[in-house]
Amino acid sequence: MIARLLFAILLAIPGALAAAEPEPLRLDGSWRWSRGDSAAWAAPAHPDAGWALVEAPAEWERFAPGYDGFGWYRREVRLPATLADGPVGVQLGTVGDAFEIFWNGVRVGGSGRMPPEFVEGVAPTLLLVPDSALARRPSGPHLVAVRVYNAYAYGGLMGGVRVGRYDLLAQRRSPRDVVIGGLVSFFLAIGIYHLAFFFRRRSARENLYFALLCAAVSVYGATFSGAVKTLLAPHVNSYRVGLWAMAAGMPAFVALAHRLFGLRLTRRDMVLTGAATAGFVLVGSLPLPSLASMALWVDLTLMAGLFVVVGRACRSTSRRQPHGRILGVGTVSFAVAVTYDLLSEHVEWVPVARVLPGVPSLFWIGFLVFVVCVGIATAGKWALTEATALVDPLTELSRRHVLDEALRRECERVRRTGGSVALVMIDLDHFKQVNDRHGHGAGDVVLARVGRLLRSCARNIDTPARFGGEEFAVLLCDSGLEGAKSLTERFRRHLAELRVPVSGGGTITVTASVGIAAGTEVVDPDALLEAADQALYRAKSAGRDRTLAVHLDSEKLAAR
Ligand code: GH3
Ligand code: MG
Ligand code: MG
Repeated sequence: MIARLLFAILLAIPGALAAAEPEPLRLDGSWRWSRGDSAAWAAPAHPDAGWALVEAPAEWERFAPGYDGFGWYRREVRLPATLADGPVGVQLGTVGDAFEIFWNGVRVGGSGRMPPEFVEGVAPTLLLVPDSALARRPSGPHLVAVRVYNAYAYGGLMGGVRVGRYDLLAQRRSPRDVVIGGLVSFFLAIGIYHLAFFFRRRSARENLYFALLCAAVSVYGATFSGAVKTLLAPHVNSYRVGLWAMAAGMPAFVALAHRLFGLRLTRRDMVLTGAATAGFVLVGSLPLPSLASMALWVDLTLMAGLFVVVGRACRSTSRRQPHGRILGVGTVSFAVAVTYDLLSEHVEWVPVARVLPGVPSLFWIGFLVFVVCVGIATAGKWALTEATALVDPLTELSRRHVLDEALRRECERVRRTGGSVALVMIDLDHFKQVNDRHGHGAGDVVLARVGRLLRSCARNIDTPARFGGEEFAVLLCDSGLEGAKSLTERFRRHLAELRVPVSGGGTITVTASVGIAAGTEVVDPDALLEAADQALYRAKSAGRDRTLAVHLDSEKLAAR
């Protein structure tokens, strides 16, 4: 829903910007088409009445299934009066794989080398129609001819052809570039966020892997953009760059998936991933014709790798991995989308998915879902980490540093507004024997039950905490010695009734020694802790299973 809204906004921007300008002439609809190649077919006078009538924009596989090689398109154009004195431009959307365009028989320009330059769809190209070409037919209709070479799964005039004022066309951004720009910026922003998180916490390596994957996908995605293709064209073929980006993304994806699903990355996994990465880099560096012939193998390797990783991830998800379900949804969506795209390139009857306006691929949706799912899972993991930083997972009581902080605040409150503060320290008696007799597991169950008991005895404004091992503490908020004593009484009464069953039969019972310290006015947190600890120590020395209380103001010691 949000993604749709985002795309609608992104698409509305160029429309709004261009609203005041005259719409360019769209050469959509019927064109004359012939397979084969002849230089004479560019001439306006060439008789083409016998040629097939085809629709464009469309892949020519629709009317010439499986055909690779040269094909020519021809049609007449009547220029509107608004174009009489402006520079005329002609803009072609995606063409598979390379083309040349002729205006009244004069070559206007082209993109991609023919044959057999493999560019997997020439990006939208804008060309200036020279005055000499326009002058050949000053009044009559103009003849536009496009010579196309295709050696890939889909070819021909796949994008629309537009004619308009050259300067106005140059200012327009293609909706496809706007969508790609938006997505790439989003993925990059997510990547930077995760990288920043990794630099804060070096142990969170999944954040690093995710950032690297986002960067690789962003580079791969950017190579689909016309603006980027045009920018790269003089230096490097954009398909190569996409392949290199995929190579860089592969180890990042494998490491990320293993980390997220808690799988073990074996030496064999690393060797295979390394080999596939090196293979992709190597293929990406081959001369173009050989590179084109390797496309199927590249895609098969990619699919096989994905299936292995996703298969493992799904198996681990069934073992109730934390956040496994959401990660599973993300990873499977990504894999399904990539697999569909690969199939549509190699299998005739699988139609190419054009799910986002102008972006011919499911991959984008798949990765978007993956990014969202990983985001939810890492946020959940982070929240869990934060929660366990505050709460002891076994007893579900506050951790010691939380108690220390609450104690400091409570003492400060008493100093400012008066009242009293009380601290209860509890140590289970002879707990070592419980472990020795019944095992550590049974000891843990006892600790968990005692934790639950202590929570139920304390008010929700108090801070019951696990002080360490089998020691507990409760800080009472706005309460004095009497309040602490009544809490302790309640706790010891319930503890005496506690029966923890053991697997071999029988039950475990435990007793506790308790030290209480309370104070008013000028109370130092350390002094209160020390006093409670001393009271506990004396309760132990006096024979255990009892409570000793000390009031700091009067240093009274009371035993019960
Ligand atoms: P005392 O009455 O003097 O307190 O005797 P004690 O055995 O309770 O005290 P001691 O300090 O000698 O031993 C504490 C025991 O608590 C030893 C340790 O194995 C056990 N213990 C500490 N933390 C845990 C825990 O998380 N789980 C389990 N099962 N045992 C724990
Ligand atoms: Mg102890
Ligand atoms: Mg003990």
